[in-house]
Amino acid sequence: MLGDPQRVLAVALQAYVAMNTAGQVVAWNPAAQATFGHTWEQACGRDLAELIIPVRYREQHRAGLARVAAGAAGRVLGRRLQLAAMHRDGHEFPIELMLTATDEPAGTLFHAFAQDMTTAQRVSRFTAVEAAVSRGLAEASCSTEAATRVVDALGIRMGWPVAELWLADDSRRTIRCAARYSTKGLRLGTFALSELEPGMSLPGRVYQQGTPDWIPDLASDTASLRSRAAARAGLHVAVGVPVSATGHTLGALCVYGDRIEDPEDTLAALLMGIAAQIGQYLERRRAEELTVELARTKDEFLALVTHEIRNPLAVIVAAGAMLEEDLADGPVEHREHVRAIAASAGRLTLIADDLLDLARLESGNLAISTADLDLRAIIDDAVQAIGITAQHKNLTITVDSPASVEMHADPHRLRQVADNLISNAVKYTPARGRVTITVTAGDEQILWQVADTGIGIPAADRPHLFRRFYRASTAIDQRIPGTGLGLVITRTIVERHHGTITVADTDGAGTTFEVRLPVKPPSP
Ligand code: ADP
Repeated sequence: MLGDPQRVLAVALQAYVAMNTAGQVVAWNPAAQATFGHTWEQACGRDLAELIIPVRYREQHRAGLARVAAGAAGRVLGRRLQLAAMHRDGHEFPIELMLTATDEPAGTLFHAFAQDMTTAQRVSRFTAVEAAVSRGLAEASCSTEAATRVVDALGIRMGWPVAELWLADDSRRTIRCAARYSTKGLRLGTFALSELEPGMSLPGRVYQQGTPDWIPDLASDTASLRSRAAARAGLHVAVGVPVSATGHTLGALCVYGDRIEDPEDTLAALLMGIAAQIGQYLERRRAEELTVELARTKDEFLALVTHEIRNPLAVIVAAGAMLEEDLADGPVEHREHVRAIAASAGRLTLIADDLLDLARLESGNLAISTADLDLRAIIDDAVQAIGITAQHKNLTITVDSPASVEMHADPHRLRQVADNLISNAVKYTPARGRVTITVTAGDEQILWQVADTGIGIPAADRPHLFRRFYRASTAIDQRIPGTGLGLVITRTIVERHHGTITVADTDGAGTTFEVRLPVKPPSP
C-alpha cells in the first residue's frame, strides 16, 4: 500500500514545487525551502519565476508556460534539465530539474523535482583542476612551463580572473612571479609586479608566514599599494597558500577574484593540494638538476686533478730516468732509491691515466673509432704482453678461440678490455693456476670469456664490482694491490660498443668474466 503522498513529499530530499498554469506556487516541500531559501508561507501563491528563476530566463519560462496552457505539448516535460536557479539571498546556483504535468479538476498542474547540484559541480570542477595541474606538471619540459600550466588551470577552469605562482630565489631575499594568469582585458597596472620582498603584499606574507592567508576586501586593504591596484582592476578578494617542500617554504600560490564562490575551507584545501603538487614537482626538478650539475663538476674535477697529477709525474719519471743514467756507476743503494721512485711514479701515472680515461669515457667525450679487426689477434697480443708476469707465477694461459674472429670495433679500446681482464686474471690467481680465454663467435654476437682458478669474488661483492674504486673483500684480505678502476673502464668501453659484461656465478674457486659484443655495432 502506498503511503500518504503529502507525507512522502514532506520527508523527500529532493525539492518539490508545484505550480498552476498561471505560474503560481501551489506546493512547496521542506526540501524546497532548504534549497531555495523561501518558506512555504513566503512561496505560497507567488509567481514561481520571481521566486527561483534568474531574471534573464524569466521571459522564456513564461512563454513556455503560456504555450502549454494554450494546449501545446510541453517540450521540457519528462526530461532531466540542467538549469540555473536563484536563491532567496540572490545568488545563483546550478540545479537538476524534472518537470511533469497532471490534469486536475482545477486545470493543469506542473510538478518540479529539483536537486541542488552545487556540491556535485564543485567536486567535478575541483577534480578537473587537480587533474589539469597533474597533467601540466607531468608534461611540462621546464619549471617555467609548469608554473604557467598551473596558473592557467586555476584561471581558466576555476574562473579566477587572476592566478599567480610566486617562487623565492636562491638568496630567499626576493620572491619572483614565476607565472601569472589574467583574463583578457583586465587592466592590472601596478598590481602586476614581478618581484616582492618576503612579508610584502599577500604573496610575500604567505611566503614569510608559511600559512594560508586571505584578503576578504581588497579595497579596504589600503595599506597595500598592490591591493589598491587590484581593487581598481575590479578584483575584490584574494586567497594565498604557501608552496612548500620537506619543511621549507618555496613560494606562494595566490588567486584573486570577484568573490569566493566555494566554502573557504574547501577552496583552501584545493589550493593546498595543488600547492603540494607544485612543491613536490619543484623538489624533484631541483634534485634532477643537482644530479646533472654534480656529474658535470665531478667530471671536470676529475679531469683537472688528473692533468695536475699527470704533468708533474711525467717530470718525475723523466728526471728519474736521467738520474738513473747518471748513477749508472754510483752506489747500489742510490740506484735502488731512484728505481723505487721511478716504479712508484710509473704506478701513479697508470692510475692517473685510468682516471682520465674514465672521466672522458663516462662524459661521452671519448669517441669510439671502429674498424674491421680480428679479436683473436688482439687477445694473442695481450697474452704475449703479460707472458713474463704469468711465467713468473707459473701460470698456464690457454686461448680457446677460432684462428681469427672478425668483427667491427675500436681496436685500441678492445685491447684495453683484453689487458684489464687478462691482467686481473693473472694478478688474482695464485702460482700454478690456470687462465683460460674462450671466444665463441656467432653470426651476430661474440661471447668472450676470461676464466681463472684464482681467489674468486664472493657473491656479496659481485653486484658492486663495476663501481668506481670498489674492491672485493678477497683482494683486500690478501693485500693484492689495485685501484678498482679497471672494471669500470672495461664496462664503459663494452657498453659504448653496445655490449654487456657480467661476472658468472662460479661456485668455489675462480672467476669468470663474460663479455658479449655485437659483431657489428648498430650505427649510431
Ligand atoms: P683493481 O684490480 O685495480 O682493484 P678492477 O676494477 O680491475 O680494479 O677490479 C675491481 C675488483 O674486482 C678487484 O679489486 C678485485 O677485488 C675484483 N676482481 C677483478 N677481477 C678479478 C679476478 N679475476 N679474480 C678475483 N677478483 C677480481
